[in-house]
Amino acid sequence: MSGKKESVCTMNVQRDERATKRDATVTPGDDHINRRQGQGIGASPGVAVGPVLLYRQAGGALPSIQPIQRPAHTDPAANRHTPNTGFDPANERARLRKALAAAVNDLRALEAQVRTEIGAQEAGIFASQALMLEDPTIEERANELIEAGADASVALTQATEEQAELLLTLPDPLWQARAADVRDAAERAFRWLATGATQSQSLAERIAAMGAPVIVVADDLTPSDTAHMRPDTVLGIALAQGSTTAHAAILARALGIPAVMGLGDAFISRLADGDTLIIDGATGEVIAHPFAEQVVAATAEMQTRQAQRTQQGRQTRAWRWAPGRMRDGVAVRVMANIGGVADARAAAEAGAEGIGLLRTEFLFSGLATLPTENEQTEMYCDILDAFRAPEPFAGRVRHPVIIRTLDAGADKPLPALASLFAQTEANPALGVRGIRLSLAAPDVLATQLRAIVRAVARTGVQARIMAPMIATLEELRAIRQALRTARDDLARQGIRLAQAIPLGIMIETPAAVFACDDLAREAAFFSIGANDLTQYVMAADRLNAQLAALCDPLQPAVLRAIAMITSAGQRVGRPVGVCGEMAGDPQLALLLAGLGVHEVSMTPQRIPAVKEALARYTLAEAQATAQRILAAPTFTEALALLNMAFPNNT
Ligand code: PEP
Ligand code: MG
Repeated sequence: MSGKKESVCTMNVQRDERATKRDATVTPGDDHINRRQGQGIGASPGVAVGPVLLYRQAGGALPSIQPIQRPAHTDPAANRHTPNTGFDPANERARLRKALAAAVNDLRALEAQVRTEIGAQEAGIFASQALMLEDPTIEERANELIEAGADASVALTQATEEQAELLLTLPDPLWQARAADVRDAAERAFRWLATGATQSQSLAERIAAMGAPVIVVADDLTPSDTAHMRPDTVLGIALAQGSTTAHAAILARALGIPAVMGLGDAFISRLADGDTLIIDGATGEVIAHPFAEQVVAATAEMQTRQAQRTQQGRQTRAWRWAPGRMRDGVAVRVMANIGGVADARAAAEAGAEGIGLLRTEFLFSGLATLPTENEQTEMYCDILDAFRAPEPFAGRVRHPVIIRTLDAGADKPLPALASLFAQTEANPALGVRGIRLSLAAPDVLATQLRAIVRAVARTGVQARIMAPMIATLEELRAIRQALRTARDDLARQGIRLAQAIPLGIMIETPAAVFACDDLAREAAFFSIGANDLTQYVMAADRLNAQLAALCDPLQPAVLRAIAMITSAGQRVGRPVGVCGEMAGDPQLALLLAGLGVHEVSMTPQRIPAVKEALARYTLAEAQATAQRILAAPTFTEALALLNMAFPNNT
């Protein structure tokens, strides 16, 4: 909380000192009711005041069951949950498999949505939940329990609980917090078993039913619950449990919803639906049944903050139609990362100067089999049609669209390609993913390339093709040959391109950084995949929240790798872009421009703010800062220099 602002707690103390002059609007009985102050942990800044919506189901929708024993090898029937003459273990195992698959699909879709609407880091929460369900541990244990006579629901519940309990016994609080994730993820599968649907709208429906914005009060919130909240209907969040590193807190901060965690059961349990609550998400202070005067002060503070946000949003949105340019007129193209038709539309509306990354694997993530060449052609055409050069560029400027070939594997498994994955990969991030998978499945690659060429020929867009996870020059040569073959095949069928499709590569492996001079001579362009590049340079899993500080692109080693790549591009005149998440951070986008990056590509929502930031500095200023930051020996010093050169409100 800013030093200038009076905290809700101070207001309370002053008010109590003047208790005899109590505001006339406070009802007489008000004093002995539950006016209480609580102290929790400030987890997402901002003051909120409003009616309580108690969400008791949170984190607890899995039924509590009497644990059944570990499988009794001597007499499985002794552990049968319910005597059921029609019980068929094979059927229950199949139901369990389907339920887990449905939950994983659901989580992947949520991951894609959160990636677009909130951010990649937050999307990682749902990616790791999907991985938890894909890991055989829960399914194998549940199958054991089914053999012992439990039905699929009971077996899933117990297997999940055992896993959650195990996590809770670990000493690290971050691992303990993952217990809630296991339960949250399994709950979707449980719901599928119970109702045939994976999603429960209960919280969203209850918020809508209140008819006015609320403060959600719960024991704990799952990431799925939080991801569906929006600041116009949820004023704040107050939880009995949780911490600043809990996923609910991370999401609340990303959404701009004030939140207080760790208030304890005693405080929460005395609240009822509709009670007035004030929360201060910076200090962690909370007041139930506040004095009218406190409500007035907190409302004023909340409204000022909302007005500032709206005003800021309006100013920033005005930037969407500006070209990506620095103060001295040097162009830095501001593009969008997309994963489907809706994103393509959002990109056009946000003022994207092209698509810097179409993640084609997202198009196929929910499918059991890969689409045919014709089906894929239609999909690409739909996206290219949806991304029309946005107003007022339309008709005047042709914006490029960079289509990335499948980057399946590791954190983005494709069920449709499951048979091609070595099931036992010990290190999937270092396994058969990206270009490796495409080259190992030449038919899959050929089909995709032909479909892309057809779509480009039909729509006439200015497209480029990009290969992910390149580590060697041979891989680049192999995909170039595959593209040539695809074009020749189509030419024989009378399908010809008006112009060549440039073939570029992502630089996201250390091997590609060290080979970038050779690669630059043969690739039409570079796009730095800063998410993976950071993960591989720092040897720090991008999905592991514990390693977040290490897995940061502002680490000196990562910045120096980026400088090597831009220098190699400059030496042979190749454009260099960045499509990792760092490109969507206004401060880092400026740093990238200073390091010699020509194109930055990001979640569409970030485009106006990045354009606004770029326009504040000249290229020379950004270059001078970049050189100072490149010389910084530690992350902390790099961060301090960045904040000094491009203050945070940039
Ligand atoms: C990256 O690695 O930075 C990138 C943009 O690709 P993805 O996040 O899809 O791996
Ligand atoms: Mg990548």
